[in-house]
Amino acid sequence: MDTILLKGKPVRDAVFAELKVKVAQAPRKPGLAVVLVGDDPASAVYVSHKEKGCEEVGFHHVTHRLPADTPEGNVLDLVGQLNADPAIDGILVQLPMPRKINQEKVLGAVDPAKDVDGFHPVNLGLLVAGNPRFVPCTPKGILRLLSYYDISMAGKNVAVVGRSVIVGRPLSLLLSLKREDANATVTMCHSGTRDLAAITSAADVVIAAIGVPRALGTNEIGKGAVVVDVGINRIDAPERPKGTRLVGDVDADALKGHVAALTPVPGGVGPMTIAMLLENTWEAMAGKEGLDENG
Ligand code: NDP
Repeated sequence: MDTILLKGKPVRDAVFAELKVKVAQAPRKPGLAVVLVGDDPASAVYVSHKEKGCEEVGFHHVTHRLPADTPEGNVLDLVGQLNADPAIDGILVQLPMPRKINQEKVLGAVDPAKDVDGFHPVNLGLLVAGNPRFVPCTPKGILRLLSYYDISMAGKNVAVVGRSVIVGRPLSLLLSLKREDANATVTMCHSGTRDLAAITSAADVVIAAIGVPRALGTNEIGKGAVVVDVGINRIDAPERPKGTRLVGDVDADALKGHVAALTPVPGGVGPMTIAMLLENTWEAMAGKEGLDENG
């Protein structure tokens, strides 16, 4: 069986191109503020990708880099200032935050109308209610990627492996909504799931978001399934100049030829996450300025 690789770059490029046109016609630039506390190397890389994305589509952007020992109160004060700043439409608090800071409290302090990551309880609640406003970027990007490749979710049995508030849980809710790009029958699996392989191997679509390198292979995923690999795991690779490489949560080498379609790692879901962050920021500004969806 030929396995189609569902690459994220063409979809991301299409989203960026649309945003550039809208920004050129807008009364002002959408503004994104990123709050980065501490020196987690992966977070620093993600933030630099977000900055580059903003540059490319012509957004105003500002990154607040704070030391790891910043008191929680100072982070909350900064969020308060960004909430009140008219040039800022979207606020992103880069996760994970240092342990001493109460992450939920900081996320809850972001104005829900600027919560372009979709993690505020108000926005998560709207998703549960079936009336989403800002949808977390990775789940939103996965649906967009599947639509781009004309892979319908309607009526499909989808196994989502992982229940984090960033990926698995909002994705499961999104996929189960009664709307054109979703309408799936979803099973949300996690570390407590009994006989995971029985569920995933019977699914039409398997979405892996567990953070365990190459955990799901041909024993866990059925022939001809569609596989979305959300995982980004760095593993040792002595043959590479850097000594490491990125792999996903599925065993891509084993699944090629076994499944109908697969998102590569890197280059699958990753580019979609940033594209959706920028799209959400555009939508935040458009909502504030009373622009219609197309600017
Ligand atoms: P979390 O660690 O927050 O959540 C992992 C989830 O997977 C948990 O629900 C956990 O269960 C479940 N899990 C862990 N091991 C197993 C297992 N062996 N079998 C079944 N379920 C398991 O991770 P995230 O959701 O934040 O991220 C998941 C992966 O996606 C990571 O590799 C991350 O780097 C990547 N990621 C990629 C993004 C992108 O843009 N491509 C964006 C965000 C994340 P339990 O709840 O019981 O602990």
